[in-house]
Amino acid sequence: MTRIDLVTIFPGMFDAVLNESIVKRAQAKGKVEFKIHNLRDYTFDKHKKVDDRPFGGGAGMVMCPQPIFNCVEYIKSRLRSMKPRVILLCPQGEKLTQAVAKRLSKIKSLILICGHYEGVDERVREELVDEEVSIGDYILTGGELPAMVLIDAIVRLIPGVLGDKNSLKFESFEGNLLEHPHYTRPAEFRNMDVPKVLLSGDHNKIEAWRKKESATRTKERRPDLLKPKLRRK
Ligand code: SAM
Repeated sequence: MTRIDLVTIFPGMFDAVLNESIVKRAQAKGKVEFKIHNLRDYTFDKHKKVDDRPFGGGAGMVMCPQPIFNCVEYIKSRLRSMKPRVILLCPQGEKLTQAVAKRLSKIKSLILICGHYEGVDERVREELVDEEVSIGDYILTGGELPAMVLIDAIVRLIPGVLGDKNSLKFESFEGNLLEHPHYTRPAEFRNMDVPKVLLSGDHNKIEAWRKKESATRTKERRPDLLKPKLRRK
């Protein structure tokens, strides 16, 4: 079973995402387990403060190292044999792609740190964090939403979570293509017809049509996917 520990100052934000849909079912099937840690439970500050003003001045607050170090060290001490990988959600990190999600879905224990304010004290990144993941080139208020995006992307890739393995095999970003278009009933809707080939029952022709659509779509919408990629070190 995969174990994911979440380090956050807003534990309540995870309620909906962890208790609905695929992520909920994955837990019921025993494929993944979550533990949420409220960072304020780990601070030595009597007012439960987890942030302070930046050295050198400037706008905003910075998350203090002490509660984060104590929290992550506590989790690691409990999960020593699982060798947890510590991930900081950070707009400066590696951009989340299907390939990154796939790689992380193979790791049995993850600790996700959700930043806030101006971010975390640099010593957290230097000493505690194994890697940083960004969900895109924009700034959110905190790391909780990015952590939830990462969780969703990872959990559906854990073997046995999705009922039909094929739904993963033919998805966009598998290989370097976007997925073909989908249609369902009715065959005619407001004068719009489903492509005839999909009603033909000829699986070879359907397969060929899907491949062609997939290639056309990728060329039109995401030609960048077709360019050869640099290898990750
Ligand atoms: N001052 C930081 C900067 O300019 O790089 C941004 C801090 S942001 C307001 C606060 C926290 O939200 C970050 O520490 C991170 O945990 C999270 N966050 C915001 N945008 C993110 C993104 N695109 N991907 C991952 N995490 C993000």
